[in-house]
Amino acid sequence: MTMNTNVRLKPDTPYVRAIRVITVLVLVVSGSSRTASAQIADLDPRIVKLVAAISEERLETILKKLETFETRSTLSSSTSSTRGIGAAGEWILQEMRSYSPKLQVSFDVHRVPKQGRITRDIELRNVMAILPGKSPRRIYVSGHYDTVARPGGQGATNAAGPASDPDAPAPPPNDPNAPLDNRAPGVNDDGSGTALTIELARVFVQSGIEFEATLVFMCHAGEEQGLVGARLHAQKAVAEDIPIEAILNNDIVGNDRGGNGIIDGATIRVYSEGPEDSPSRQLARFIQRWGARYVPSHRVRPMARPDRFGRGGDHSAYNQLGFTAVGFRESRENFTRQHDVRDTFEGISLPYLAQNARVNAASAATLALAPPPPAVTSERGQPLITRAPSGYDANLRWNASPGAAAYRIFWRDAWGPDWQHDLLVGNVTNVVLPNMQIDDYVFGVAAIDAQGHESFVTAYVTPPRANTTIRSGQY
Ligand SMILES: [Zn+2]
Repeated sequence: MTMNTNVRLKPDTPYVRAIRVITVLVLVVSGSSRTASAQIADLDPRIVKLVAAISEERLETILKKLETFETRSTLSSSTSSTRGIGAAGEWILQEMRSYSPKLQVSFDVHRVPKQGRITRDIELRNVMAILPGKSPRRIYVSGHYDTVARPGGQGATNAAGPASDPDAPAPPPNDPNAPLDNRAPGVNDDGSGTALTIELARVFVQSGIEFEATLVFMCHAGEEQGLVGARLHAQKAVAEDIPIEAILNNDIVGNDRGGNGIIDGATIRVYSEGPEDSPSRQLARFIQRWGARYVPSHRVRPMARPDRFGRGGDHSAYNQLGFTAVGFRESRENFTRQHDVRDTFEGISLPYLAQNARVNAASAATLALAPPPPAVTSERGQPLITRAPSGYDANLRWNASPGAAAYRIFWRDAWGPDWQHDLLVGNVTNVVLPNMQIDDYVFGVAAIDAQGHESFVTAYVTPPRANTTIRSGQY
C-alpha cells in the first residue's frame, strides 16, 4: 500500500487531554474491549484494491455503447432491439448479469398510467443489481439511464432566465407509441452516472469482499419526466419496509470543462438535503472524510442545499420519502451539452469520471463494511445528551450498533459546517466530556467495526419545538 496510513493525530488541547483521561476511566469502568482501537487503521487494503480496479477503459466502453441507442427517453421505443429505452435497459441488464452470478440483476418494473410528463401509459423499468450482504440493510449507488433532448437544450433554458419553462416540450411526435423519440444521446446526463453505477457493480462483485450491508446498483428510468422511477422505487421501499440506509446518486458527473471555459477535474460537488445535521448532511460529510482518505487526489465539496437552483435529481425523490440520500454533480457544467443532441462522448473526461467513481466506491465500500450508524435518541425521540453529572459536562449516550467494536465521537463549534475534533472511544455506549458545554458544540457519534470501517455520524439534534398559540382577548 502506498497511501499514508499514519494514525490520525488527535487535537492536543487541555480539553482533549482531560477527555483522554476520562475516556480511559470510562473504558476501565465498563471493562470493555481494549483491543479494538489497536487494530483500527484508516485504510482497508481490500478497499484500496477495489478502488484501484475501476477502469477508464470499461467506463469508455459502457458510455459508447449507451450512445448507440440514439435516445434513451422513457417515452421512446420500448420494443426496438437497437434504439430507445427498451433496448438500452435490456443491454444494461445483460451487461451487469455478465459480471458474476452473485449479482442479482433484475428489472424493477412499474406500470405507470399517463400523467404529468408521462404522455402515454408505460411500463417503466429501473435496472437493479443486488449484491447481497450479511445484513438486509441497503447501500445504493445510482444514476438514471433515461435521457431527454429539447430544442436549444439546457443552455437555452438557462440563458432565457427564470421565466423559461425547464420542461418545454420536444417537437410533436410522429409515433404515439414513442412520443419522445428524437435523438437524445445523454452521454453525460446521465450516461456518466449510469456508467459509474455499472462499473461499480463490476468491481464490487469481483472484489470477492463479503460485505455486511447489501449493495444495490440502481439505474433509474423516468428521471427526466419528474424523478418518476426513483419515486416509484422509494414508494415501494416505504410500503415494503426495505431498510435503505444510504443512497449515493450520480447525475452529470463526467465532464470537467464548464461551458464558460473554466476547467476543474479535481473536485466533485455533493448536494444534500438539510437541516444542517440531517442524516443526508452526515452522509455528505462522510463522503468528504473517506473520499479524502482513499482518493486524496480528488476533493469532495459538500453543498449545504438539496441541489442546484431550479434543478433536481433522483436523490431528492428519496429525501422526500425520508431516506438518506445525496447527489453527486460535476463541479463545472457545460449547459449547452445538457438535454441536447450535443451531449455526446466528446464531452466526457474519462479520468474525471473515474475519479468520481473512485470516491463513490471508497464511500460505499466503507459504509457497507461498517456497522449501521448509532441511534442517539430515546424511544420518545429525545436526544440522549445531558449535562450530568456535574451539570456542566457533555454526557453522551447512544444505542449500541450491531457489529460495532468501538465508536468515534465528533464535535464542532455550534457555528460551523465541518467536524473539528474527533476521539476514538472503545466499545462503550456512554462518554462524559467534562466541562464541555453541550449548548456550545454539535456532537455526534459513529460506529466502527474491529477493522476500522466507520459508519456515518449520527448527530445529537434538538427536535423542532411545537408552536404554541397563546389566546388573547376575552377572559
Ligand atoms: Zn440527469
